[in-house]
Amino acid sequence: MTVTPEKTPEKDPEKIPDLRVVDAVRLHGDWVTGAGDLYTVVDPATGAEVQTIHQISAEQARAAIDAADTAFRTSGWRDLMPHERAAGLRRIADGIDRNRERLARIQTANTGKTLTETTKLVASAAGTFRYYAAAVESRQEAVTPRRGPWDTVSVLEPLGVVAAITPWNSPIASDAQKIAPALAAGNAVVLKPAEWTPLVAMALMEIVVASGLPEGLVTVLPGKSAVIGDAITGHPAVAKISFTGGTGAGKRIAHQAADRLIPTTLELGGKSPTIVCEDADVDQALQGVLFGIFSSTGQSCIAGSRLFVHRSIYRGFVDELVRRARQLRIGPGTDPATDVGPLVHARHRDTVHGYVERARGEGGTVLCGGKAPDATELADGNYYEPTVIEGLANSSDTCQEEIFGPVLVCLPFDDEDDLVDQANDTVYGLAVGIWTPAYLRARRLARRIDAGTVWINTYKQFSISTPFSGFKDSGLGVDKGLDGLAEYSKRKSLYWGLDQAPMGWGRPTPHPSDHDTSHTEETS
Ligand code: NAD
Repeated sequence: MTVTPEKTPEKDPEKIPDLRVVDAVRLHGDWVTGAGDLYTVVDPATGAEVQTIHQISAEQARAAIDAADTAFRTSGWRDLMPHERAAGLRRIADGIDRNRERLARIQTANTGKTLTETTKLVASAAGTFRYYAAAVESRQEAVTPRRGPWDTVSVLEPLGVVAAITPWNSPIASDAQKIAPALAAGNAVVLKPAEWTPLVAMALMEIVVASGLPEGLVTVLPGKSAVIGDAITGHPAVAKISFTGGTGAGKRIAHQAADRLIPTTLELGGKSPTIVCEDADVDQALQGVLFGIFSSTGQSCIAGSRLFVHRSIYRGFVDELVRRARQLRIGPGTDPATDVGPLVHARHRDTVHGYVERARGEGGTVLCGGKAPDATELADGNYYEPTVIEGLANSSDTCQEEIFGPVLVCLPFDDEDDLVDQANDTVYGLAVGIWTPAYLRARRLARRIDAGTVWINTYKQFSISTPFSGFKDSGLGVDKGLDGLAEYSKRKSLYWGLDQAPMGWGRPTPHPSDHDTSHTEETS
């Protein structure tokens, strides 16, 4: 494998000006310029260039995985005591904290998210590294019950090289949720960020290098999935694929992994219902529904994008929701007053608008939004107004497909059975929100609706210590929590024999002449 190591001058993260990241992939202890296409990151709020980076080639991706495999086998990381690996994770967490403002600004410039949100995401990434540091150093291996003349011990082994593949909507948080448990469990990791949002992962790589982890143990691979995707997922040294992204790409990756019989964790799309019962606290539910769909400009896997309201309060609730949606402040993520930032990319705004046009074609009524804002100061960004639609059947494309933008569809329901049928009538099963003070009703609905996460009288709240998973086409396997750590280990069972005598099986029958007959009954 020949990869020409063209060293870049900008090696030291402390010397990188303002928000620019080291434009290189880390290979064999050096920063090497990507040999793939150039990609220009454009600020979704202004259309201004943020940074042009060199994506990597498939050959470089393969070289990085070879290096990760070498680091896994020879660096000694996997054999460190858990508390020693935990110390490495804490150094990364400290590096994230030291760079908190820079990372948040990079993420806002790349994704368009508000600084308020990206600051929280950066803090959560540091928290994730600390959580998995604590989790691994307190993780128990098991002495299992004895059922024979052996002591039995079940230990945990790392898998090898983990390929972590993340989407564009919450980069540093989703990156940390894969890198931290994978490293904690003793693996090496290659991380492929989404093509549109490579910057914060590349900045994280600078922090990993500064943290002094063994070279090659973590590598960020910026590039197009069409160019480097198969080089990563098909590499024979990749022992697990941890993927967050769309259901279509997830299924394709699952097929590739099945052919190689390697495990996957798949966190995929959603079309999550939010349910407002007739006894809900209306003000609380209204704010929760608005936040659930319009925060992050709807670009969230767990966005509450299908609203079910009890028919008896439907009209009043939806009218007030529309009034409040119109008042949300649209603007750049850098403005602290902004509620709704731009969409990540101009192409994505076209996709979102295409869905709204489709909803109109399906007979839906657009109650608000459905277009880019008129304000001239927003003309250069990928802005889209918070959009509320009603009058569609739950079976319509707009109600069934993930739009991943600020678009909410509203549907009335009559009773619990009707509601559960409609809520579950989707291929997805990621999350559900339930607004009611009635404990038993909330409990019934929570258990009957197919979803990995249920929020009751709240929405879109997360804790790294609580497992996250999707039902149906929303995913397979678990991120977060102790279950999330278990995804990066495999079990090995050790039997310690306690018999001192040799095993009796298969021993040749002694020849009669060998018999010492002095103690047999016949002679006694
Ligand atoms: P995407 O599926 O297009 O891409 C996700 C990542 O996979 C990107 O890095 C992409 O380059 C890569 N990729 C795509 N095909 C690949 C292949 N064949 N081989 C290797 N890599 C490949 O998704 P997106 O548009 O970036 O993100 C939006 C999607 O992510 C939405 O569907 C959203 O619901 C989902 N998502 C899910 C969760 C969750 O936890 N369930 C969280 C965030 C986002």
